[in-house]
Amino acid sequence: MSTRILVVEDEAPIREMLCFTLQRNDFEPIEAADGREAQAKVIDTPPDLILLDWMLPDISGIDLARRFKKEEATRELPIIMLTARAEEDDKVKGFDVGVDDYVTKPFSPRELSARINAVLRRISPTHGKPNLAAGPLSIDLQSHRVSVDDNTIELGPTEFRLLQFFMSHPERVYSRSQLLDQVWGGNVYIEERTVDVHIRRLRKALTGHHLDRYIQTVRGAGYRFSVRD
Ligand code: CA
Repeated sequence: MSTRILVVEDEAPIREMLCFTLQRNDFEPIEAADGREAQAKVIDTPPDLILLDWMLPDISGIDLARRFKKEEATRELPIIMLTARAEEDDKVKGFDVGVDDYVTKPFSPRELSARINAVLRRISPTHGKPNLAAGPLSIDLQSHRVSVDDNTIELGPTEFRLLQFFMSHPERVYSRSQLLDQVWGGNVYIEERTVDVHIRRLRKALTGHHLDRYIQTVRGAGYRFSVRD
């Protein structure tokens, strides 16, 4: 699923350029030409981030940002303000309101998408991270989707974390107690055979695709994830 970005800018050529840039970088742009339209679109097509121009015809960008940051439904929405160089002194005001970042016009497409990705990563650390892959098996860390080639595999939450851990640390043996620490978190008391239960479930989920062999038992030591036999 692509990241949706609301572009609030009254000047049509700039707005179109922004949307074009966003599309080229695999974002899904939504357009708003003024504050009122922006407020409607935020509800109708909830974005993941707002690019907000400082100068708008009906309300200033900063006042609109203040509103979004005040309201429960939009408080968590990251906002990047677009400013002209002359407005740079006002940046402090924006940070007080809770704006996440600024981009000063004119900016390059590369700078814009770098800023967007930086803000999104701050909010969701897995944003833009490369997926984990081993042979035909892959995990999309953003959507938590596990797939073999193009087929999605359903996993329970523990099996998912277990597989994610294994795929991030391939070719290494982990004892049951190490897996408990790493995957369950060391602060809970769980018997070591619980690990075996979840390993079995994980293998079962992978069996249909003949990938259960990736989860290997190392006698007397524990388990290892490996694409080699
Ligand atoms: Ca403007």
